[in-house]
Amino acid sequence: MKPIIQSATAISTGALENYRILVESIRDQAVLLLDQLGHVLNWNMGLQNLNGYTANEVIGMHFSTFYTPEDNESGKPADNLKQALDRGGFTEQGWRVRKDGSRYFAHVSITPLRDAGNQLFGYAKVFRNAHEGASRSSLSQRESLADAILITDSQANIIRANQAFQSLFGYNAEELQGKNARMFASGRNDKAFYAAMWASLIEQGNWVGGMLDKRKDGSVFKAFVNISAIKNDYGDTIEFVAVYKDLSERSAEFEQGQRLAYFDALTNLPNRRLLLDRLQMSIATTTRSGVFSALLFLDIDHFKVLNDTLGHDCGDQLLIQFATRIRSCVREVDTVSRLGGDEFVVLFEQVDAREQNAWKKVGLVAEKIRKILSEPFMLKTREYQTSPSIGVTLFKGEHCTIETLLKQADIAMYHAKQSGRNTVRFFDPHMQKSVEARALLESELAQAVPDHQLRLYYQIQVDNEMRPVGAEALVRWAHPTGGVISPAKFIPIAEESALIILVGQWVLESACEQLSKWQKSPATQHLILAVNLSAQQFRMPDFVASIASIINAHKIDPSRLRLEFSETVVLNDVPELIAKLAALKALGVKLALEDFGTGYSSLTYLRQLPIDQLKIDGSFVHEITLPERDTVMVETIINMARRFGLELIAESVETDEQIKFLRQHGCHAFQGYLLGQPVPIEEFNAQLNAKQ
Ligand code: C2E
Ligand code: MG
Repeated sequence: MKPIIQSATAISTGALENYRILVESIRDQAVLLLDQLGHVLNWNMGLQNLNGYTANEVIGMHFSTFYTPEDNESGKPADNLKQALDRGGFTEQGWRVRKDGSRYFAHVSITPLRDAGNQLFGYAKVFRNAHEGASRSSLSQRESLADAILITDSQANIIRANQAFQSLFGYNAEELQGKNARMFASGRNDKAFYAAMWASLIEQGNWVGGMLDKRKDGSVFKAFVNISAIKNDYGDTIEFVAVYKDLSERSAEFEQGQRLAYFDALTNLPNRRLLLDRLQMSIATTTRSGVFSALLFLDIDHFKVLNDTLGHDCGDQLLIQFATRIRSCVREVDTVSRLGGDEFVVLFEQVDAREQNAWKKVGLVAEKIRKILSEPFMLKTREYQTSPSIGVTLFKGEHCTIETLLKQADIAMYHAKQSGRNTVRFFDPHMQKSVEARALLESELAQAVPDHQLRLYYQIQVDNEMRPVGAEALVRWAHPTGGVISPAKFIPIAEESALIILVGQWVLESACEQLSKWQKSPATQHLILAVNLSAQQFRMPDFVASIASIINAHKIDPSRLRLEFSETVVLNDVPELIAKLAALKALGVKLALEDFGTGYSSLTYLRQLPIDQLKIDGSFVHEITLPERDTVMVETIINMARRFGLELIAESVETDEQIKFLRQHGCHAFQGYLLGQPVPIEEFNAQLNAKQ
């Protein structure tokens, strides 16, 4: 292909690199960079969306490739580039060709790029896809209009303003030609404001913030502006690029569209989309400025409990008040956003150039946020106290990706939750390791069932006379290299995915198989086997049917199977739970509630549940033998069970003193290390023989 413009100028690599970063950071607009001969140097996502080619496919290609054959014939591409060079900028219009051969009509601004020595080293092209605006989704059209871009020289003399900028400020390209950006000053930002802005631009090469500017018609409006200094190889600023986001109201419809697209309807905070957009800009900014920014992840502790107990109205009110309080703790340039549910993310722009200082500063704000969110809230007429769990990560430089940063902040928040909630945790790579180890365990666990690595252990249960009445089935994982893994370690992992269904199914099958064996011998046919169920299993729509089918398949007496579930199940939809429990009872199986009194469930729930047995939690049994014991709970639970006509069993019984106390107060069944550890079936059979 014939070169269009002959130039021997060596490309100024530093300046070019700055432009490359800038082009990639502009998400809402199609932008490309050409070298002085018209070959593609760089191409952003916006352009990929517009014409289908990825950057890798087009880098090095000549720009005339994207023109129609007719235009190429008439020499239009070369003409337009020459026009741009002669006039210092040019807007071309015409048809372009996509990768799939289809055509689109485009408005393209071409800006020649020069280095400090005024040598041309390339062109920037910014697209506005005018023709398709009407037919494409109106949302993406609004989106592409959202960012107005102004390029000036180092003295703020205007070099170029894109269409969005022109329509935002009300000037056309000619009116802006040769003017200085001071013309937009509204007089409403004071001297100190500009001093701080210039200081930041000079020292850090970047400034981000809210600014009051003046349109051609004299009206003043507020814009969110991100200004970057473009430097040459010697570190001198040669240009400024300002990206404006209009925060004012332009038209009711436009505003509405923007709101829906970028803001959360409930809290009015930026939504995920706007956050990602700003985060992308922020990453590019830190790359240039060398100053750390920070990302904070926050969620409301026990939000689900609030929703379930006080209703969604109160939940919504809490979210709105959370939003206001978080905003009150941060600077205007920072972005407080809501990702959805009870998750909030704060983006702190340009915290500090030194890592230690940045941690310190952001830590102080995070702590301030934690404190203010732990103060009581008024929800309707009632006072409500809650707390957040907060994770924080710092970032700087182009190696960061949006995905990694969100993941890091999320991991840190997860650690905050693990450490008892209402706390702030900073991301460190060790956290990532423990999360990765967990992920590995999860993937191995998926193989545990098909590879027959699960084992069922049996822990004996006895009556008042120490006669065996049955057992609790407790699962173990015989890991191929990691030894026997406790369910306390892998059940919570299984519960976070669908794996718990697989594991639960296996446990039920194995337990019923064992019951069927016991049924065949008079010595064991009276034994009851208790099986633990997790909340997810209860939530399965075909849960009751699957239990029925297992019972039928193994032809067992359903009254010998006892299903144990804990308070966490009760916290879900209560009417649905009651219906499921009733259906289970109708099958003839026995039901036991464990962990009662350790969490949030109340007497009201307990009365409504059609259960047969209450299991006294190990923590209450443990209290009996403590020096300053508090046995109120244990006594209350025993009395309550009696009142409601429920069977009782105490778990984790370890001492004779505990048995004595429990017996005296009316509990007549026991399970615990004192009577037997959970063991494989062969050992359990030996225990049975010994006790008979
Ligand atoms: P859990 O249902 O409360 O089971 C009782 C746990 O207490 C068992 O731990 C048992 O080994 C332990 N234990 C028994 N006697 C004593 C004692 O005297 N002192 C002390 N300190 N502990 C005692 P394990 O077997 O590690 O199980 C832990 C938890 O894992 C179980 O708590 C249960 O929630 C869950 N789990 C076990 N098997 C299954 C299963 O098949 N399905 C589901 N969904 N969860 C299971
Ligand atoms: Mg249990």
